[in-house]
This record gives sequence, structure tokens and C-alpha cells, in this order.
Amino acid sequence: MSFSFPVSDAVRSRLAKLGLHRDEDLALHLPLRWEDETRLTDIRDLIPGVQAVVQATVVNSEVIYRPRRQLVATVADDSGQLVLRLLNFYPSQVQMLSPGKILRISGEARGGFFGVEMIHPQIKSTSADAPLPQSLTPVYPTTAGLGQVTLRKLVGRAVLQISLDETLPSQSYDGLDLPLFAEAIRLLHAPSPVLATDGLEDRRLEALRRLAFDELLAQQFSLRLARASRAKKNARGLPAEDVLTRALLANLPFSLTEAQLKVWQEIQADMSRRQPMRRLLQGDVGSGKTVVAALACLQAIGNGTQAAIMAPTEILAEQHYQKLGAWLAPLGVRVVWLASALPAAKKRQAIGDIASGDAQLAVGTHALFQKDVSFSQLALVIVDEQHRFGVHQRQALHAKGVLQSGGEPHQLMMSATPIPRTLAMSYFADLDVSTIDALPPGRTPVTTKLVADSRRDEILQRVQAVCKDGGQAYWVCPLIEESEKLQLQTVLDTHAALQQQLPALSIGLVHGKMKTAEKNAVMSAFQRNEVQVLVSTTVIEVGVDVPNASLMVIEHAERFGLSQLHQLRGRVGRGDRESVCILLYQNPLSEDARSRLKIIFESNDGFEIARQDLQLRGPGELLGARQSGVPLLRFADPERDADLLALASQRAAKLIQQHPHAVSLHLGRWHGEGTAAGA
Ligand code: ADP
Ligand code: MG
Repeated sequence: MSFSFPVSDAVRSRLAKLGLHRDEDLALHLPLRWEDETRLTDIRDLIPGVQAVVQATVVNSEVIYRPRRQLVATVADDSGQLVLRLLNFYPSQVQMLSPGKILRISGEARGGFFGVEMIHPQIKSTSADAPLPQSLTPVYPTTAGLGQVTLRKLVGRAVLQISLDETLPSQSYDGLDLPLFAEAIRLLHAPSPVLATDGLEDRRLEALRRLAFDELLAQQFSLRLARASRAKKNARGLPAEDVLTRALLANLPFSLTEAQLKVWQEIQADMSRRQPMRRLLQGDVGSGKTVVAALACLQAIGNGTQAAIMAPTEILAEQHYQKLGAWLAPLGVRVVWLASALPAAKKRQAIGDIASGDAQLAVGTHALFQKDVSFSQLALVIVDEQHRFGVHQRQALHAKGVLQSGGEPHQLMMSATPIPRTLAMSYFADLDVSTIDALPPGRTPVTTKLVADSRRDEILQRVQAVCKDGGQAYWVCPLIEESEKLQLQTVLDTHAALQQQLPALSIGLVHGKMKTAEKNAVMSAFQRNEVQVLVSTTVIEVGVDVPNASLMVIEHAERFGLSQLHQLRGRVGRGDRESVCILLYQNPLSEDARSRLKIIFESNDGFEIARQDLQLRGPGELLGARQSGVPLLRFADPERDADLLALASQRAAKLIQQHPHAVSLHLGRWHGEGTAAGA
């Protein structure tokens, strides 16, 4: 990707910072606002605080040193005089401001000590009869070292270089009443001054809507093409099996909910096909995704192939290993566990069993896709809490399956951060989505309480009461983003303090810096209720499942994000005890923190929380940080532009069928070449 005209390396790297790599990117780099430089204002008529352009002749100029070094010039037109003040300046500017020179000066006037002045105006040399610009002057978002003048020139060039013709047949836009692409681009970069007084805002919005629709179409095209190219790939068809699954279901202490049965059927059907499954299984915290994953694994194992489950943290992977082991080992399935922290000998053994095919199910962290791991027959890859992984990590595990079995492995991604429908439609259109939309029965909803930090003593009493009654509690220490060291110190301090304040209880500690063995020892002690209060960092955020724990205390809740709080709260309310989540906060609360706490206090529904989160933070965060590799939308907002998204999704399929050439032209404009397939 590059520009069709020469650009120096320095400028190129600054453009890259702005995400601009090709002519098309520049043409779609839109101004933040415009300035009206199409008219000259007499100095006499300048209004303080209003931006204006004057044309004037330099009367005198000098560099003065008090109060600090600055270049001060007096300029005049027929109507009066104006002082210009430059605090940082180049020798070339001293030149430009020498007496007699004619300048065009653009800036905001203000009343100064010596009369009207402008500080740091934009100054250009000109001649008495040079024409004025015909359109408003765009002001672009930029980065250090890249001035407006340069950027304006580059954008202008790019707009001339690229084709502004329509890429798609006109019926693609039927019923929308939007401007043509060329009109939209020209309007946004260089609107006519006539509009400045009337209708510019409306026209701007229409133009932006046109770009948003085009962008959504491009996204739909590329996701659909990716899906189509996946459909052409081979996978091993794994017909639904009966023996193992029936045995598992018979051993479970519960029966599957309707919601679980429904998603299981969807997965069963996918896996039995000879195209690779790519399904996102979403369901709120505690909705019971793990057992569905186990059933999927049995379908692979029953067909003589291997399955792998990857989890983002060791604690979670270990827990999956325990749970799946307990479920599957009685059926004669061999489950192995692989994490980087495993002792060398055990690790070698696990890797050997995976390679020979002895291990039918491998559970682990990202250690599963390291170089030295190879599977004999990997046909199903499950990624738990998928939003915690980067695209590359997911692909790396996926690749382990491709090599050995000739086709691609089936892939199931699980997420407890439910993606609102609009977002799923726009970002995950290449995935099939299954949703567990109801919690297992018999759950008592968690009561959430907001409590000021100053009432800590009451909380201690509550912890004591819960544990005395046979229950257990989590005590989560705050995230300290600035310093891992400080964060560690805080958990250690809290642990020590609680041990003192609650001498009758056994208080455990887990944090990310502990050795795996230590961590596991504490977690299993907590599981067995030998540890009653578990002090931890957010390492317990995802997946941890100890049904007897019914109290969650989160310190400095105001520092956590919404989905994090929801995840943490989801650790309780898993058994039949009345569960409570106490959010300790410290005053004063920022506006933002207040609204987050209010949302979490008012809602227990992960979908609703995710929707609100989306509004507060935008899709980047929700989709699992920027590392997700999903190209984020620049112009369209799936929530705001839900109508456009629905139309784009409808029309994309037909366009791909009937106008493939137009579709690839459109993708070229929006994503560059070679971006269409294989994503
Ligand atoms: P998540 O979807 O958050 O991963 P889990 O799979 O950890 O949830 O399940 C949460 C808890 O609910 C576990 O203790 C699990 O054994 C239990 N569970 C799962 N399905 C059911 C069901 N149908 N009825 C009762 N309990 C269930
Ligand atoms: Mg889970």
C-alpha cells in the first residue's frame, strides 16, 4: 500500500500515525471543521474571538526579549492597524514579516495592550491581487510535525488522484436520498462558502451518512466473502455421537436448559458438516457454557479425533481441566493439561500425549499453540473467553489443526461478554452466533449494594456472618493500572489486614505473580471451603466457579470497567445461597464512574450492560481491546446507524451475486486490494 505521488519518509511515517497509507485513506481523512478564508475582513471590523482573514502590509517588526523571546509585527490595511505576535518562529518568518511585505493573515483577534492583536495567526505572503480561495478551508486532525498546509495539499492531491466515480450500481442506494460519493467527498473537504451561512450542517450530515453506508457495505462484503471462502474449505465431518454424550448427561447433577439444548443442537449440526464450523457461543456469566463445550468435545472425541480448549488465564484453564476431567474421565476420555508453568517433565509428558493422540482433550492456556506442541488429529478448537485473546493467538491454535488433519478444525469461540445484536451483525457477520439466553433455573439473582469505603467495618461484619453460616466470600482488590508493583502491594496489604481483622477465618490469597502450584493450591482449598475468604486481584475475573461463594466484595469499584464488574459479580449467585455483591467506592466519584456504578447497580443483565458499555466506551473496548484485529468502523456507528446497517446487510448479499466486479471495486476503495477474503 502506498501513495501514487512522492511523499518523503518523514511525512509518510507521520501519515502512518494517522492510519493513512494510501490515496484513498487521505481522501477519506475528513476535516474536524472548516475556516472561512474566502472573504477578507477590514482590520477595523475584526471582532475579538471570531476567526477572520485580513490582508495587510507590514509596517514594522522586531524580535523582543521581554517578557520572553517573541516576534512582534505591526501590519496595516486601509482601515487600521493590527499587532501580530509569534512566540515560536523560524528565521523564514522574520523574513516574511519584513516591512513592506503584503500578507494574508488568518486568526482570531483579541484586544491587547497595544490595541487589537493576533497571537500565532496563520500567515502567508501574497500579492495585492491574489485571488481568495473559492471554498472553505478544511482543518484536519493531525499529528506532531505534520502541518495543516502540508496535510491539506496531500489530501487535495489524493482527492484528485483517486476515482470518485460510483463503485456500486445506483439501486444500492435506493430510498436513502444520499449524495453521490464524489459530491460527499468534495463537500466534506471543500464546501462552498455559500453554505457556511445556510444548510452546511445538514449537507455535512448527509455526506457523512453516505460514507457510513459505503463503509458498512464494504464491511458486509468482506465478512460475507470471508464466510464464502470458508465454506469452500474442508473440515472433517464429525457426525453427532450418542454413547459418550448420553453417559455424560446421565452423570450430570442437572439437566440441560432449553437454551443450552438449542445451542448444542446448532453446534452438533455445524460439526457434522464437512465445512469448518466458526461459531461464537455467547451467554451471560454463569449461563452454563462449559457443559456445552464438553458436549462439543465429546462429539469430536467420539469420532476418534482430538479437541482442545484454550482459556486466557491459568486459573481458568486449571479449573476447566478439573471440571472437564471430572466429567469426562469417568467416560474413559483422556484429558491433559498444558500451561507454560508446568514442571518440565510433566510438560514433556503432556506434549508427548498430545502428539501421539493419547490425549483426546487438551486443556490449557496459550501454551497450547507454542511451537513444540503438535496434535495428531485436532478437529475441534474451543477458545473460552475469546475476547481476551488476540486474533493471532486464536489463529495459531487453529493452525495446529490444519496441518495434521488435512482440513481445517472446527472452531467454537465462547464469550461471556455478550455482544449487542447490532454489533454482532456488523463485526461478526462472518461468524455464526449461538446465544444461551437464559440462566439455569434456581439461581437467586445477586443483590448489588453500593457502599462508601468509609463503611468498611460493616462489610467486615458481613463477611464474618456469611462465613459463619458456611458460606464463602471473594474480596477483590483494585486494579492499579499505573503500577503492577503497587497493585501487588495492595493485595498483600489487604490480605494481611483481613487476616488481622477476621482472625477466626481462613483467608487465602491469589494474584498473578504467584507460582502456578501455589495458585492452584489456594484455589482448590477455596473450592473445598478450607479457605473461606479469597483475597485476589482480577485474576478471578473470568470463569472461576465456586458455587458455595455467595459474597463478593470489590474494593474501589469505581476503577473497574462495566463488563469487568459484571464478570466479577458473576462469580457469586452460582449456588442456592442468597448472594450479594458489594461495590465499595471511594468518594468523590467522577461523573463517568458514577454512571458506570449506576448501570451495574440497576442491571443484572449482561446484554443490557454490554449495550450501555458500548454507549459509554465505543466498540473498540467491548470487542476485546484493539488487539482483536477487527477493523473498526470510522464513519458508521452500528447503533446510531442501525437502519443503514440493516439495509447494508440486506443488499450486500444480492450485490455480491449480481455485481461481483462492482463489489471488488468498492472493497478496493475501502479496504485496499487483497482484503476481501480469508479474514
Ligand atoms: P459460564 O457460562 O459463565 O462459563 P459455567 O459453565 O461455569 O458458566 O456454569 C456455571 C455453573 O452452572 C456451573 O457450576 C455449572 O455446573 C452450572 N450449570 C450449568 N448448566 C446448568 C444447568 N442446566 N442447570 C444447573 N446448573 C448448571
Ligand atoms: Mg465460563
